Amino acid sequence: MLTSFTKKRIKPYFIQTDVFKLPRGTRDFTPEEMQRRRYTENSMMTTFQKFGYKEIQTPIFENLELFTAKSGATIIDELYSFKDKGDRELALRPELTAPVMRFYVDKLQMEPKPLKLFYFGNCFRYDRPQKGRYREFWQMGCELIGASTPEAMAELIALAYHAIKETGLKNINLRVGNLGYLNQQVEETLSSSNCYTTGSTELKNNTKSEIFRLIDKEDYEGVRNKFKESGVIDKKIIKFMDSIDANNIEDLKKFSVKPGLEQELERYNKTINLLKKFGVDNARMEMKIARGLDYYSGIVFEIDAPILGAEKQLCGGGEYKLVPLFGGKETPTAGFAIGFDRTILALESEDFTFPKETVDVCVIPLSNAVIDRSLEIASDLRNMGAMVDVDLMRRGVSKSLKYAASLHSKKAVLVGPKELKKNSVIIRDMDSGDQKLVEVNNVIYML
Ligand code: AMP
Repeated sequence: MLTSFTKKRIKPYFIQTDVFKLPRGTRDFTPEEMQRRRYTENSMMTTFQKFGYKEIQTPIFENLELFTAKSGATIIDELYSFKDKGDRELALRPELTAPVMRFYVDKLQMEPKPLKLFYFGNCFRYDRPQKGRYREFWQMGCELIGASTPEAMAELIALAYHAIKETGLKNINLRVGNLGYLNQQVEETLSSSNCYTTGSTELKNNTKSEIFRLIDKEDYEGVRNKFKESGVIDKKIIKFMDSIDANNIEDLKKFSVKPGLEQELERYNKTINLLKKFGVDNARMEMKIARGLDYYSGIVFEIDAPILGAEKQLCGGGEYKLVPLFGGKETPTAGFAIGFDRTILALESEDFTFPKETVDVCVIPLSNAVIDRSLEIASDLRNMGAMVDVDLMRRGVSKSLKYAASLHSKKAVLVGPKELKKNSVIIRDMDSGDQKLVEVNNVIYML
């Protein structure tokens, strides 16, 4: 509602047309688009529920620090952050894992483990908008708290895979990596470099982060150059590239040098083997998955839809450590987030036939004199469980039938004064055009 203050200040609408456009990177959704979105949402939710996950909800905005605590202040550039009237620094959520972990630490720590939670919500990032990349987008995701066994990880990964597959999407790739391994290879390669032998801790961390960023961007030329720049000899760089190309357990073990990692690789290998038990038999070992190191650790995974081209990543997930940072008792945590908008884009690109929204019947009054009775008939049918629309426009029958067809209504009930005298109406099959005289009480059986 406009206040008198704002009323005074707003210029007539014909001067202000630009103001009434959508903010950059946001979208409106038509009824047809909403139908597609609801279909996809219901499909994913059903899969989550089949795996015993329970839905939660958190606020759209949080204290800014929730997001800067782990990622540092540089993340602010990517956020919608603001001060409220009480001078509190807030941010629209860019993702939901940190909010869910805040919620867990605050209220859910005593719940029986493992705790299986799922969410669906809009997220906001100050991204550069393009197809598949928006400033407001939706994520559907799960967090698994309290378990890190191979079967727990395999179930979580399989859940992400099936949640996407069950929507009807045909072509997706699942890759599973291990950050413990990747981190060790990067450290080992940098160990004799200038920045490790003589550089400051900050330089070390920056170099490592930059290498992870380049791997994440699949810029392997950039990775080689960065190592070179840091004084790493060619032989070591070649060995590093071989170590991240390794894609079976025997080869991975050859590159592992530190104690403890071998055991971790066994858990990783067992997780991948167990995926078959969950109906996933095309998972690939992929050591080049470098999801942000400041967040993730251990097993990580990604699911792509190649049909989407540049913005093909549908889902990212893995193990992470946030609970101690938020003041909770240390416990294993892992999760994933599915890009909901991209899943729909991928379905559309594969020409998926989304179920159409229809009504069972459209009630059409054939004259003004029968409107009241038509409304009663519609109400009775609704009370008996049917999805019913009534033509409210007082127009001729051919226009009303066109309207009924636009609703994809299966049947039309034509209410005419002559037929009503016999307590009957005409039922028309909208596909064949066949019409029948039916007693009002029997209409429900004809739908
Ligand atoms: P992330 O939280 O960055 O791991 O993202 C998880 C998933 O959310 C990605 O795999 C994408 O499918 C989706 N996603 C991330 N950012 C955007 C965006 N700006 N627009 C649309 N989808 C996004």
